[in-house]
Amino acid sequence: MRLQGKHAVITAAGQGIGRATALAMAKEGAQVWATDVNADLLKAFEGEKNIRTAKLDVLDKAAIQAFVKQAGRIDVLFNCAGFVHNGTIEQATDADWDFAFNLNARAQFWMIQAVLPGMLAQGGGSIINMASVCSSVRGLPNRFIYGASKAAVIGLTKSVAADYVARGIRCNAICPGTVDTPSLHDRINAQPDPVEARKNFIARQPMGRLAQAHEIAPIVLFLASDESQFATGNAYMVDGGMTI
Ligand code: NAD
Repeated sequence: MRLQGKHAVITAAGQGIGRATALAMAKEGAQVWATDVNADLLKAFEGEKNIRTAKLDVLDKAAIQAFVKQAGRIDVLFNCAGFVHNGTIEQATDADWDFAFNLNARAQFWMIQAVLPGMLAQGGGSIINMASVCSSVRGLPNRFIYGASKAAVIGLTKSVAADYVARGIRCNAICPGTVDTPSLHDRINAQPDPVEARKNFIARQPMGRLAQAHEIAPIVLFLASDESQFATGNAYMVDGGMTI
């Protein structure tokens, strides 16, 4: 049991990568808080061993602080919430920019700021932030706001890692390639030709297939566990070869 004795909080655990990671962490012995803004999605965790659920909107700073106050010990924070805005700089509005930066970057700032005092008091913790290959790692077409906001995640990650490296706090980011999740289906179905859109998503993956959410969870488990105790301040690709 690689996470025995660890207490973990996951944002956006209702579906996709967050849900797969919650299940994988619980299987490895962690006590998991699976949180999401959509309480209905969390009902699917009913009966799962080691998983408690809480409705949490990470765009609400007061709600984050109230949640952390009652959550008890937190050893691991997986900041998974995020949103993909489609389009170039010409199509981007201020409102799109603000929404994406609030959800993809500011919410991580708020979550980390809320859990950090407890982690410091107990002498350590591991923070894992969801970035993407589409970030400072690679520019992808029609991902102007998304790429900019996920690049911010990598910078935020390195800054936190640098400030707390000698105080037991590790902070890393993960950069998945294209993952077959409900929001990807929404993005595909929003295109004029969904069949063609799916083919195009697959075409940008050198392995010729999309990732499944459970294939992203292991890197989060590794960064959450003490196996990665010498690893901090880095962005870990799990991208099926997109950055070869
Ligand atoms: P998803 O997009 O299908 O699900 C997102 C979840 O976030 C939903 O359960 C939703 O209810 C929740 N959510 C939305 N707003 C929220 C809020 N304000 N507070 C709390 N929860 C909220 O899941 P996914 O595709 O696995 O994406 C998860 C993360 O992984 C995102 O940050 C995304 O950018 C990143 N990512 C995804 C891919 C991909 O191809 N799917 C690739 C790289 C990175």
